[in-house]
Amino acid sequence: MITVEADPVLVETRLRGGQLACPGEGCGESLRPWGWARVRQVHGLPDALRPRRARCGSCLVSHVLLPVTVLLRRAYAADVIGAVVSARAGGAGHRRAGLGLAVPAATVRGWLRRLAGRLEPVRVFLLQVALRAGVDVTVPEALGCPWRDLLAALGLATATLRGRFGPVGVLGSVTAWQVAAACSGGRLLAPRWPPAR
Ligand SMILES: [Zn+2]
Repeated sequence: MITVEADPVLVETRLRGGQLACPGEGCGESLRPWGWARVRQVHGLPDALRPRRARCGSCLVSHVLLPVTVLLRRAYAADVIGAVVSARAGGAGHRRAGLGLAVPAATVRGWLRRLAGRLEPVRVFLLQVALRAGVDVTVPEALGCPWRDLLAALGLATATLRGRFGPVGVLGSVTAWQVAAACSGGRLLAPRWPPAR
């Protein structure tokens, strides 16, 4: 799986132009079009998602090109999940965090429980992203709440990446939670942390 920009036209252009490199260990060959993954509805996205598949001509492995708007195996947009996490950081419980977003309480509870078990490593991971991307990066002060500390780290990573690559960046114009999706390779809420790459 490879994280790509939200705009399928740009993904197609880059793919057909041989500008997407195979993520295989020591490979780096250009990926070629290789059909599509199954169509799925994602709550919070305007259109059904039909991720592109690509294959490496050298190591023959195929990869799904997952846009930054979604997380791996989640039926809700990254921004919807992010809004829930922000509500939690603002003090809302899992019932209130999902209100207004039309997300069932049980779904919200699952996301928050998964993230609660990795708040500190994800925060450190995002700070490392910021430190690698920027110069003179100031690590945020502790806010006395691990959820708010996570948001502060995400804010710093987002600002630093925009500072380095410009507001449009390498993956197009992205929200903070799309930055989180991109940095984690879509694996922010995946079973294992840290993400492989
Ligand atoms: Zn390869």
